[in-house]
Amino acid sequence: MRLGSNFIPRGIGSPRRGYGHGGGGDLTAIRKARLGQMLSVAKTELLGWSAAVKQESFPDPQIRQLFARILGEGLRSDIQSSHYELKNRCFYTTPHGGELESSASARIGDRGGAICLNPEAILAAGATDADVYALLLHEHAHHLGYQEQEAEAIGNALGDYVAAYFYSRLPSSRLI
Ligand SMILES: [Zn+2]
Repeated sequence: MRLGSNFIPRGIGSPRRGYGHGGGGDLTAIRKARLGQMLSVAKTELLGWSAAVKQESFPDPQIRQLFARILGEGLRSDIQSSHYELKNRCFYTTPHGGELESSASARIGDRGGAICLNPEAILAAGATDADVYALLLHEHAHHLGYQEQEAEAIGNALGDYVAAYFYSRLPSSRLI
């Protein structure tokens, strides 16, 4: 997407250089850089959030229990020792042995292992920060041994809480 010079509000100052050639801006590139910035702090934010959050801050008792359970199962040590790999394509193995492509993937039960992330696919899906945290928690849940449905439920239940924590600390790193 290109924002033409007619988008520059009057009174912001006149251009001083670059006469005669284009000065487009690329929103995809901006969002890609933001996602990279957001992912570079995501682990620290997940660890900070999971240490700081109080059980009482979850109004839903089921989410409270879920959080306590995954903490007990070693969520924090998995976050600490896993590594996020940014790739052009991510695949996971289905229970029937097939391979499927997805925007992120991890092996079930692979504690401390790799988490594959496809930034292009994440952005193409219009992901928010909460979505990215939901996705990361989903993959960490796989590392703890959860299958697809449960991992999705864990990510969806907690993603917003991590994003709220992240916004309160690093508003300049927001994706959306
Ligand atoms: Zn999954």
